[in-house]
Amino acid sequence: MAEFFNQFSRRKFIFTAGASASAVLLKGCLGNPPETTGGTQTAPTAEAAANVSAEQAPEVTKVNLGYIPIVEAAPLIIAKEKGFFAKYGMTNVELAKQASWGAARDNVEIGSAGGGIDGGQWQMPMPHLITEGLITKGNKPIPMYVLCQLITHGNGIAIANKHQGSGIGLELAKAKAIFSKLKASPTPFTAAQTFPAVNQDFWIRYWLAAGGIDPDADIKLLTVPSAQTVANMKTGTMDAFSTGDPWPFRIVKDKIGYMAALTAEIWKNHPEEYLAMRADWVDQHPKATKALLKGIMEAQQWCDNFDNRKEMSEIVAQRAYFNVPVDVLLDPFMGKYDMGEGRQIDDRSMAALYWKDEKGSVSYPYKSHDLWFITESVRWGFLPKDYIENNAAKAKALIDKVNREDIWKEAAKEAGIAAADIPASTSRGVEEFFDGAKFDPENPEAYLKSLQIKKVSV
Ligand code: CA
Repeated sequence: MAEFFNQFSRRKFIFTAGASASAVLLKGCLGNPPETTGGTQTAPTAEAAANVSAEQAPEVTKVNLGYIPIVEAAPLIIAKEKGFFAKYGMTNVELAKQASWGAARDNVEIGSAGGGIDGGQWQMPMPHLITEGLITKGNKPIPMYVLCQLITHGNGIAIANKHQGSGIGLELAKAKAIFSKLKASPTPFTAAQTFPAVNQDFWIRYWLAAGGIDPDADIKLLTVPSAQTVANMKTGTMDAFSTGDPWPFRIVKDKIGYMAALTAEIWKNHPEEYLAMRADWVDQHPKATKALLKGIMEAQQWCDNFDNRKEMSEIVAQRAYFNVPVDVLLDPFMGKYDMGEGRQIDDRSMAALYWKDEKGSVSYPYKSHDLWFITESVRWGFLPKDYIENNAAKAKALIDKVNREDIWKEAAKEAGIAAADIPASTSRGVEEFFDGAKFDPENPEAYLKSLQIKKVSV
């Protein structure tokens, strides 16, 4: 199995880990550091920690969590800065900015004892791939637990300006001829994501395939750090890329490109990035794990109050975190997207959401969403077909090992979350995409069969 995965992806992963310093480049490209706002930090207090009952007191107060400076990380930053971690006794949470997804993987492999991290923010299904030893050094399995979802929405597909008016939008029916023409030319349509076989790769693949374009045969799809992609888009050698806020804002504002689609349009209320930690850390520190979760849940509720979004923008924009001007964050956080080509979106239900969306809980990690990520990995040949055979028995066994929604529920109860906000089922049920495709978690094979463009034969 490891060999199978290697055959398809290890080279790409190594390339990413070696070549990418996207966070560092991102800083440089996004411009000047913001004005420091002052007064936004709430110092963790001893009083706050003293509110924790002896029964729920964490075994340790210190933990190292990795994050990538994009909107998905906001609940971690807010939990620290607004004192929500400290309130539950986690007075010494260190948030470590990761230079790339490859660096985050390498740092969780060594753990905080080796100078790395105990867990943090992940694209999916990285925790499952790390658990299986499919993307680690020497294919060493490092068991991990998925503990909560951090966010939905906040990502999209950017297209180079030269394609304005060409019909490349959410739907691609009118743009087929352009793709065919470029495919036959020496310079095929070139697109990028920032790490292979995870969310942003899946979003651009889904969107292309739904429009009748095979991402493996009709275009060139590469792994490139964000800032490099933007530079290439400026010089005309990159046609599209899959990216998160605040890039969509910058790309349109700087007249580099326009937005074909938000992920909120491709799959409204879709699963995005998650908190996952090393299983050994969680097993040794069950109370501290729940304290972290309680802090994050409170932060997610705070983040979803739109009255707080200006302050949230000011906090995450700071030099220590995203290091970007506040104004590139605020509009998208309010659900206002200038998509370019004269298209405006002003809809809070399509903004980055952290606690609740129209489908219910954002924070709760549905096992049915893990299953979609595994199924999509099978679709594109990143994982072998046996994961979804026999009613996905192998995928479900892996998900049962990795997804610890039971810990989320215990933490939610301890935090006094209303019963109505604690999902009763580990499945969110049938999901529907913009092109009408449906994913029934009870029958992932039927979903794969229904799709025209795929690598797997089912
Ligand atoms: Ca993302």
